[in-house]
Amino acid sequence: MKKIIALALAVMMAVCVFAGCSAKSEKLTMATNAEFPPFEYLENGEIVGADVDIAKAIAEKLGRELEITNIDFDAALTGAATGKYDMAVAGITANDERKKNMNFSVDYYTASQAIIVLADSAISGVADLEGKTISCQEGTTGEQYLLDNEYTVQSFKTGAEAVTALTSGKVDAVVIDDAVARALSAEQNGKTKVLDEALTQEAYAIALKKGDDKLTAEIDKALGELKADGTLAKIFEKFELPYDAE
Ligand code: GLN
Repeated sequence: MKKIIALALAVMMAVCVFAGCSAKSEKLTMATNAEFPPFEYLENGEIVGADVDIAKAIAEKLGRELEITNIDFDAALTGAATGKYDMAVAGITANDERKKNMNFSVDYYTASQAIIVLADSAISGVADLEGKTISCQEGTTGEQYLLDNEYTVQSFKTGAEAVTALTSGKVDAVVIDDAVARALSAEQNGKTKVLDEALTQEAYAIALKKGDDKLTAEIDKALGELKADGTLAKIFEKFELPYDAE
């Protein structure tokens, strides 16, 4: 009888600990813009991509439940900066301008701005872009580069729309992050190509609210571990993203 009571008590305690634990498991909220293959995109209505896998791995390390919200890119940035979401993971370039308003994790990927043109275009490099009309995605470093260099710019909510502007003859070129340029161009059945010459050198990092140093440090630690144990390399390989783990 004593044994049964002891066992029952042990089971009850285990259940309490377990239930208490799962009820307390804090959410880790993430904003992204699932229009940026292969970092984040929709597949059968589900948000997938390299950033999603990285965020899942981080959430697991932090013992928190990941909740992803899909919104416009600029809204994702603002949402992280204001603390509406714990973080934004969206192929976000960590640059000095943005660092004024938000925290950034350590870098996790190196990128650049690339040029997409029609397959038979006479544009073969940056020098040929002079005087041309170029489309891009709103609120991005690509847009900023084009404005800074005084090109005629047409901005769209998504990279896909920027590419449609090219294939429908409204613009001469698209400027967008290199890996995304390759992914979007590959969907055009040979109508477009990505030029070898890139425009910038950038690094992706996770954006957080300015001053949220505790979570930033936790994410940095998780990213460091995921890099060291090869998880990051594996994720980038899964999405066919070139990666040099220095
Ligand atoms: N890397 C670019 C930026 O941070 C584009 C990101 C994106 O469109 N998701 O502005």
